[in-house]
Amino acid sequence: TLEARSVSAWFGSHQVLSRVSLTMPAGQVTALIGPSGCGKSTFLRTLNRMHELIPAAALAGEVLFEGEDIYAPERRLTEARRRIGMVFQKPNPFPAMSIYDNVVAGLRLTGTRASRRTKDELVEESLTRAGLWKEVKDRLRQPGGALSGGQQQRLCIARALAVRPRVLLMDEPCSALDPTSTRRVEETIQELAGQVTVVIVTHNMQQAARVSDQCAFFLAEQGTPGGIVEHGQTDDVFGTPKDPRTADYVAGRF
Ligand code: ATP
Ligand code: MG
Repeated sequence: TLEARSVSAWFGSHQVLSRVSLTMPAGQVTALIGPSGCGKSTFLRTLNRMHELIPAAALAGEVLFEGEDIYAPERRLTEARRRIGMVFQKPNPFPAMSIYDNVVAGLRLTGTRASRRTKDELVEESLTRAGLWKEVKDRLRQPGGALSGGQQQRLCIARALAVRPRVLLMDEPCSALDPTSTRRVEETIQELAGQVTVVIVTHNMQQAARVSDQCAFFLAEQGTPGGIVEHGQTDDVFGTPKDPRTADYVAGRF
């Protein structure tokens, strides 16, 4: 379980999140929805300490992973990254690096050592979990950049999964993909559910409804920092929203 407690975030003197609290239960899929600029990506980045890499970024509050604050001084950055992986909007494999090396690159980035055999197994396992193995098993030495956009995104998912993270953060992972690739990524998310805790930002309401167990609606009203207006089980947020602003948003009225 990942738990944000009263998280506030600033870029310089500009506050973009105010006291956001959200529990993301282990093995469940949590969707973050809301209009552009309301702080969804910023919030997502606070969940694996990506936020602190941005110049002039500041943070208040706590992020607990299995009860321990990932920002506590004795916690190492690589430890947070190994447990909490991330996939971005734009597929970003290392284009000149082979498909195989792209997957194992995840190990190096988080300081994990592995033997050749372990790597072979991890490559197959990760590509299988990402729904890409069958398509690429005979071309593992080809560059990652030679894959289609949708395949590249699944390669990035495989790279994130190679370190066997407990949590996968996904920031609009399908917004650069065609409908078929989008479906493949959604299937991957559904297969990961139960094993990995997934937090996904999406502007696609159908996608949020299809893949998530719970949903949080973010909003930054005129001149105020972003926060959660409503969260709950996805069926409830979409079917019987409590706040009129949520009702308007999920119905596509703004
Ligand atoms: P979108 O749906 O368009 O991706 P979002 O909900 O993900 O939007 P964020 O990217 O978190 O929104 O941005 C929240 C606010 O923080 C915005 O006002 C944005 O301009 C600001 N912001 C985001 N990243 C930075 C940055 N690196 N430096 C300064 N301000 C930033
Ligand atoms: Mg964003």
